[in-house]
Amino acid sequence: MDLTKLIKKYATSGPRYTSYPTAPQWTENWKIEVYQEQLKKSFSGNAEPIALYIHIPFCEALCFYCGCNIQITKDHSKSGVYIEALIKELKTVSEIIGRRQTLSQISWGGGTPTFMTSQEIERLHLATLKYFDLAEGAEVSIEIDPRVTSNEQLSTLRRLGFNRVSLGVQDFNENVQKAVNRIQSIELTSNMLKFCRELGFQGINFDLIYGLPLQTKQSFHKTLQEVIALRPDRIALYNYAHLPSLRPHQKIMDRFERPDSEDRLAIFSDGYTEFTQNGYRSIGMDHFALESDELFLAIEKETLYRNFMGYTVKRGAGMIGIGASAIGEVGGNYFQNTRETRPYEDSIAHEGLSSFRGCLLTSDDVQRKWIIQQLMCKFVLRFQDYRSLFNDSFEITFQNEIKLLSEFASEGILTVDSQGIVITDLGRLFIRNVAMIFDAYLSLPTQATYSKTL
Ligand code: SF4
Repeated sequence: MDLTKLIKKYATSGPRYTSYPTAPQWTENWKIEVYQEQLKKSFSGNAEPIALYIHIPFCEALCFYCGCNIQITKDHSKSGVYIEALIKELKTVSEIIGRRQTLSQISWGGGTPTFMTSQEIERLHLATLKYFDLAEGAEVSIEIDPRVTSNEQLSTLRRLGFNRVSLGVQDFNENVQKAVNRIQSIELTSNMLKFCRELGFQGINFDLIYGLPLQTKQSFHKTLQEVIALRPDRIALYNYAHLPSLRPHQKIMDRFERPDSEDRLAIFSDGYTEFTQNGYRSIGMDHFALESDELFLAIEKETLYRNFMGYTVKRGAGMIGIGASAIGEVGGNYFQNTRETRPYEDSIAHEGLSSFRGCLLTSDDVQRKWIIQQLMCKFVLRFQDYRSLFNDSFEITFQNEIKLLSEFASEGILTVDSQGIVITDLGRLFIRNVAMIFDAYLSLPTQATYSKTL
């Protein structure tokens, strides 16, 4: 079957699998004590380093494609109040764990973390280090919006020990930028990248998005060339998720034409070719890294992991999410904080925590989560690895799923033999469709809305 036919066949809606079970399966019938118990049980007696994610929801202006949990405001006094809630949550979590937990990774995301002043940035980071220890070589990262981040803030971050930055770029084309309400010149991005390098940040990442209004293969090709010339260490090339039923502001962009599935795949394929022919290696589903970058080295060592922050090398024994809407992975289970800022602050003020929903995994979930991780991070699943880990036969337990894979095999998307499953280079484009075969919940009735797989 040719590529166009495959795209038409597999351009369906489906999860991105930053978790399994995916968020629509999580329950809100929830008591905060469940989260407390899991924190205690999982981390109190376990000295293995973990990851910490801190969410800063504030942005000064709305980008129309945005799918994050955000609060648009120009009132900078809001961050001061919010930071106090974050610090209280950090304190509560560390008290529940009962000792100083070591962190292998700290990530600040948003929103716009640099909505905070340099003083606020320092206050929050020092408060984190009051309750937690940093492992040697820990990755301390922050998402940067070049439009609102100053050199002074970047210098402060570097001085505090931040060593990774991720710059939101999306597309350098002016018409696309106007259509999505995010004007950001190439000079601005380029100067910020240069300054980040001078300060000694490593693993500098650019986020790009394809599938935005007015994008064409030709227009995005120019952006690709401009990005390659700037040579960030890592590039994430995300497929835009148009979900106006969940994010009503995205409807604003309906007045512009957006690339269809075929065009989107043509844009992605062009990106794949350009990056891989210019010194980048493909990482997982939608990331690229220079061979000198540790994300690439993680593939060689098979230590790549995928979580809510994307692909990471510092998996840790779990992840704590701090802040409104933040998601954590504790004891393999998922927990999410209240989404809205004010209710989050209120809940922290009264209870110290703000977990409003989550998911305790069954043994079947644990197995399927592992399978989906293997496929999405390594593109290989060895039956022997499954047997060693779960003391179970993959071929017997998942015989129905293996049968369903035969269609993918006949289309060149993967191979299955007595050793395991291998996703082909072509198959990487359809990896979400392959993962869906192992999702036990997709056959159940659901209200969930998923983005396009292609
Ligand atoms: S800056 Fe980022 S988080 Fe804020 S609105 Fe734009 S895309 Fe969303």
